[in-house]
Amino acid sequence: MNLWAKSKSKNYRNDYTANGKCVTMRGMDKKLKILTYGCQMNVADSERMAGLLSTIGYTLTENLEDADLILINTCCVRGTAEDKVIGQIGRFKTLKRQKPSLILGITGCMAQKEGAELIKRAPHIDFVLGTGQSFEVAKVVESIERERNHFVDTSNVSGDIFTGEVFPIRGGQVSTFVPIMYGCNNFCTYCIVPYVRGRERSRKPEEIFAEVRQAVAEGFKEITLLGQNVNSYSGGMTFAELLTAVDKIDGLERLRFMTSHPKDLSDELIAAIADGRSICEHIHLPVQYGSDKILKRMNRVYTVEKYLRLAEKIRAAVPNVSITTDLIVGFPGETDEEFSETLNFLRTVKFDAAFTFIYSKRSGTPAAKFEDQIDDETKHRRLNELMAVQNEISLAKNLELVDKTVEVLVEGASKTDEKIYTGRTRSNKLVLFEHGTEKIGDIVPVKINQAQTWLVKGEVVDK
Ligand code: SF4
Repeated sequence: MNLWAKSKSKNYRNDYTANGKCVTMRGMDKKLKILTYGCQMNVADSERMAGLLSTIGYTLTENLEDADLILINTCCVRGTAEDKVIGQIGRFKTLKRQKPSLILGITGCMAQKEGAELIKRAPHIDFVLGTGQSFEVAKVVESIERERNHFVDTSNVSGDIFTGEVFPIRGGQVSTFVPIMYGCNNFCTYCIVPYVRGRERSRKPEEIFAEVRQAVAEGFKEITLLGQNVNSYSGGMTFAELLTAVDKIDGLERLRFMTSHPKDLSDELIAAIADGRSICEHIHLPVQYGSDKILKRMNRVYTVEKYLRLAEKIRAAVPNVSITTDLIVGFPGETDEEFSETLNFLRTVKFDAAFTFIYSKRSGTPAAKFEDQIDDETKHRRLNELMAVQNEISLAKNLELVDKTVEVLVEGASKTDEKIYTGRTRSNKLVLFEHGTEKIGDIVPVKINQAQTWLVKGEVVDK
């Protein structure tokens, strides 16, 4: 199928949707700029909204000044993410004054959380669309083009999800995301996601397969299946079955997924990873903390012991697997003893890498009401200690790769040196090497000769 094939007409084009329907596009000269904050799910949603908006004539631009429509796809997982968005909205006031026809829309988690408040505070915003209504973005923009009205809809956080009707317009060249589900039912006490993304809704397997095939046809080598908790996928098959089915798609070189909740990671899934062809040997398994008392207050519903047994089981079944995690320090009530337990836990489990965060109080979550909040100085001190311990472990893990030859999927040139290419191993380690004739998207054998905390370096060897 010829996807997004342009006709010769100047202002109109014929394009084809995911199910092969031909649609005529209008007003080809309209420009769209999307600013995306937050997680991979937001990146995927932005690509999907770009696809939907292309059906009413918008093409992407890099340049803010050229844009007829600016979308800010927001995140509110941490206070800092919200502050950045507020700053950005303020800056667009001048742009809007210079170009009154400019449409400014706010989507994503912060749009869901703040709703009409955002327009009250910044009337130069044209529309606010909650996460359960993002799939309506093209209709909303068309109505604003006609009526020049303000529009807010955050009415149904667990509303319909994007369907496979229109394919996303993907950024990048080598790796891309395919969402398999939206929302979360877990209600960890620190987390705003269930309130701003609603309950779990799974996409149909056929839609997911069609999208993976389309991404492979576009030249993508690596797909990451996305969901807040992929292990509870319920689209008519288990997540392990879905993963195995996607693994069989011709032309797909690497298959990843995120994020997994430790409470739901099944033996069936571990077996699927071990037996998979393209399924990469990397599991991102957020533990969040290394002490049972805090895990309980976080409502994570597993114990440190259970997590350790799970990590052992994964390592026994999947050779050369890397396990990475997320950790939060400074959760309300955290004592020195509990923090020491967490450092010991890190030394025991030995993660390949950890994304470490300071607890951020999110209003509307149960933990925001806990009285024993930790002061900023203690939070920062503990974060530094935690990072120092993990950095040592990450370096030791990377040193294990020295003198080994690994398969690297080439992602592009290094930002600081064009002679150097960057890529990733199947276990998701970042690799730097001096390139010769290799091309972006190639998979090349690289012998590792140097290790650092966050990356390894090596040279291409003969196949
Ligand atoms: S599993 Fe917990 S941390 Fe993850 S999105 Fe759901 S509520 Fe948030």
